[in-house]
Amino acid sequence: MNKPAIVEFTEIEGETELAAPETYAALLIDWAADRHVSDLFISDDQRSVTVSVRRLGRVELVRRLAKDYGNRLQGHFRAISGAGAGDAIHPADGRGVVTSEDGKDHEFRLSAIPTLFGQDVTVRLFDSKRGDCGLESLGLDDGEVAALKRLLDQPSGLMLVSGPVASGKTCTLYSSLHYLNDGTLKIHTIEDPVEYAIHGVQQTQVNLRAKLDFSDLLTAVLRHSPDVIMIGEIRDARSAATAVRAGASGQLVLATVHADSAAQAINTMLQYETNPTFLARTLIGVVNQRLISKLCLDCRQEIWAADDLCRNERVWQKLGGVQPKLHRKVGCPKCYETGFSSLNCLPEIMCIDRDIEQAIIHGDDAGQIEQIAIDHGMLSLADAAQVRVLRGDTTASEACRVIEHPDLSFLVAKERELR
Ligand SMILES: [Zn+2]
Repeated sequence: MNKPAIVEFTEIEGETELAAPETYAALLIDWAADRHVSDLFISDDQRSVTVSVRRLGRVELVRRLAKDYGNRLQGHFRAISGAGAGDAIHPADGRGVVTSEDGKDHEFRLSAIPTLFGQDVTVRLFDSKRGDCGLESLGLDDGEVAALKRLLDQPSGLMLVSGPVASGKTCTLYSSLHYLNDGTLKIHTIEDPVEYAIHGVQQTQVNLRAKLDFSDLLTAVLRHSPDVIMIGEIRDARSAATAVRAGASGQLVLATVHADSAAQAINTMLQYETNPTFLARTLIGVVNQRLISKLCLDCRQEIWAADDLCRNERVWQKLGGVQPKLHRKVGCPKCYETGFSSLNCLPEIMCIDRDIEQAIIHGDDAGQIEQIAIDHGMLSLADAAQVRVLRGDTTASEACRVIEHPDLSFLVAKERELR
C-alpha cells in the first residue's frame, strides 16, 4: 500500500492557521468541491488534528493542524450541522451548508464518533448536481447505457443495484430516476437519508425514532398509486419481501443490496428468505458495480500497444477491432496533477432471462448463475475492467485496485515492466 500523498496546502488560499476556523472551513469545502473530493476527515491524533480527504476514491492527507485549532474546526463543523459542538463523547450526526465566497452553497452530511485521542469528524459532500444527472453522467459506455435503459424501460419488476459500501450505488439509482422522471410516471422514493431533492419525485425518509422503517413506508407508498418506487437499501427480510411483492404487483422497483457480484445479489435476496420462484419471476436485472478512476485525456501517455495484451475472447469482442493499449497516468494542471479526471461507474449488468429465472427456481448457486449470464453475453466486472484498461480509459493498476483477476494482474505486470 502506498503512503498517502500530502497535498500542497498552499492550494487552499489564505493564511489558514491565522484565519478563524469558520473562514478555514469555507475555504476547505470550496477547495474540496472543486477537486472531486467526496469526504473530508478531521481527526484527532495524539498531538495534532489531521485533515484528510477522499479524492477519486483514495485518501490523501491534506494537513496537520495544531490540536487546539483543529478542535475548534471540528466544533465549528459540528455546530453548523446541528451535531452539538460541545459533546465529543457521543456519536452524532447532522447536516449543514457552507456558503463559499462566490456565493455557492455546498451541502454536506456530518458524522462524528469519539476516538482514542478525541474524535473523528467525517464530512460527506453532496454533489448538488447529482439529483439532476442522467445516465450519461455515470461514465458508462454506450452499450452499458443501452442495457440499463432496457431494464428501466420495463413497466414492472425489481431491479437491484449491488456493490460494496461507497461503490456509487446511490448515484446509479438517482441517475435512473432522472431518466424515468419525464413527467408521465408517479415516482416515490424511500430513503435513509434523502440525499438529493429531485423535482417531481415524492421522497420519503425512513425515521427509525418514529418507528417508520422501509417496510412500513413501502406498504404505505403502495397505496399512493406509484409507477416507480426506489428503495434506498434492502437490508432485512421484511424489506426484501416487500420489495419483491411491490415488483410483482405492477410497479417498477429499484433498490440497492449489499453484495460483491450480480449473482451474489440474488443470493443475498434468498438469504433474506424471499421465495425463489417469486423472486425469479419478479427480478428483471442486477447492476453490480464499483467506482474506477478515469484517466485524464489531456495528459495520459500510451506506453504499449499489442494484440497479445488481450487474452479474453469476450473482452476482444467488446473492443470491436480497436488495438489493445496500455496507458500510464501523468498529471497536469487540468486534473490537479492526479492523472485522473473523474470517478466512473464500472458495471456488471445481469439481465434476467428465462434460463437464469429457471436456475434461480432450481436453486443453482451463484457461480452457476453467473456462468449462464456470461454464456448469454454478460461482461463480468473483471471483463469490463479489462475493456476499460485496454481502451485507455484507466490504468491496469487502478483496475487492480478495484477488482482482482489474473488477467488484470498480467496487465499490471506489463505496466510495471514498461515503467
Ligand atoms: Zn491531466
